[in-house]
Amino acid sequence: MSSELIETKVIGPVIIITAPSGSGKTTLVKHLLSQFTSLNFSISATTRTKRPMEEEGKDYHFVTTDKFLSFREQGLLVEWEEVYPNQFYGTLYSELTKIWKRGNIVLFDVDVKGALALKSKFNTDALSIFIKTPSLDILRERLKKRLTETEESLEKRISKAEQEISYAHSFDIVLVNDVLEDAQQQIVNIINHFMTQLKHTWKHDATNL
Ligand code: ADP
Ligand code: 5GP
Repeated sequence: MSSELIETKVIGPVIIITAPSGSGKTTLVKHLLSQFTSLNFSISATTRTKRPMEEEGKDYHFVTTDKFLSFREQGLLVEWEEVYPNQFYGTLYSELTKIWKRGNIVLFDVDVKGALALKSKFNTDALSIFIKTPSLDILRERLKKRLTETEESLEKRISKAEQEISYAHSFDIVLVNDVLEDAQQQIVNIINHFMTQLKHTWKHDATNL
């Protein structure tokens, strides 16, 4: 666990959503945010360029590589990964403390390596969910349909997906995103179950900050 989190005693529950790119993380995360006001999205910092539909400070903090590296050097990141060559993504401590101080639960959308790092950092405070498409062919189709990738970046994402799927068993729950409405209902049920099991002591700590 990071020394900053221990020193400030700011610790709360987290939900980690992970999957190969194109499996439906963003879609399911958006659905969860519309259903649960107590879940707050952890807005990552990234050096990748903004997609047309994305908003600065809502989907990501879009930063230069220099800025990202300075966050890293100053120890401001809980975890970070070079998810694709020269594309850095990371979680700022400040995002988490902001959410816990409100008494809310952090919702992460991170790659598989980042999810494993967060899982070992937060262990019993974390629920981790791995999202999968029914097959790699369906993953490819969905990535193509999303129209966000070049042929080259599509192939990079598919070959990375094959490796990532081999880690599915490391997470608490594996959810197959086949029919969207079914997957949405399933993930809502999973979160409801997690919430009913949560210990409430962390809320007490948060009010003493
Ligand atoms: P990720 O965030 O994991 O990269 P997205 O949420 O962007 O994935 O989903 C990839 C694409 O697949 C998007 O265009 C999305 O609308 C679509 N999609 C997501 N879930 C489903 C589903 N169950 N059936 C069909 N298309 C889906
Ligand atoms: P995209 O470019 O499609 O938005 O994201 C690419 C990958 O980076 C996705 O798997 C996404 O979950 C992951 N990602 C987003 N933010 C973070 C982060 O803060 N840390 C890590 N490790 N991965 C992240």
